[in-house]
Amino acid sequence: MVYNWLKNIPWVLYPATCVACGQAPLARTWQRDLCEACHAALPWRRGPVCAQCGTALAGGEALHCGSCLAAPPAYDRVFAPLGYASPVGALVTGFKFHGRLAYGRVLGELLTEALASAQAAGALVLPAALVPVPLHRARLAGRGFNQALELARPVGRRLGLPILARGIRRRQDTPAQSTLDARARRANVRGAFAVERPVPARVAIVDDVVTTGATVDALARALRQAGAREVQVWALARA
Ligand SMILES: [Zn+2]
Ligand SMILES: [Zn+2]
Repeated sequence: MVYNWLKNIPWVLYPATCVACGQAPLARTWQRDLCEACHAALPWRRGPVCAQCGTALAGGEALHCGSCLAAPPAYDRVFAPLGYASPVGALVTGFKFHGRLAYGRVLGELLTEALASAQAAGALVLPAALVPVPLHRARLAGRGFNQALELARPVGRRLGLPILARGIRRRQDTPAQSTLDARARRANVRGAFAVERPVPARVAIVDDVVTTGATVDALARALRQAGAREVQVWALARA
């Protein structure tokens, strides 16, 4: 029930059109559905961030935010190149809830390129495998695809990492996190994931957007119980 359609869309049938400003046609050599101007104008995160949860810090000497110092999450660090600001929100929503394939392709490319650049700069420790945040099977059936898995595919191809999906599942079809506050989000996802397979010592969870981090925290806990010792989170955007 999982389709690998993102890599199968031929450019010749769907010429590049910018998903942000609609400009078309783009130069034949620019094989991406996002023009150069809109790419440069994306909400890239450049300021200091918490070394663990990746939330923006005001600056100064601190490496960790107050919340990670008080109650460290189960994951070790978050890599997220973009903020959750325009047009990222619209692209993620269009991909997840309206099945806009071109949006998903652009988002997968942005995450892949950011990770490959970080690796080239020596700023990224590669895990042994990727773990896309699973969807509950009822939600997967409704949507037809798992956006986290579709983002993980190009990353795995580019960095040569296997994707662990089988045996890692979401037990409950939890209410959408976006309707809840931070405390309710943590309660909402506690125990939501089951990892029914051994996992390597070093893994990276892949998700589209990290908001409070409650979901990836719950999955990281389950992965640690299954043998993971270092859990990174690789996401497109961090709110
Ligand atoms: Zn554009
Ligand atoms: Zn933090």
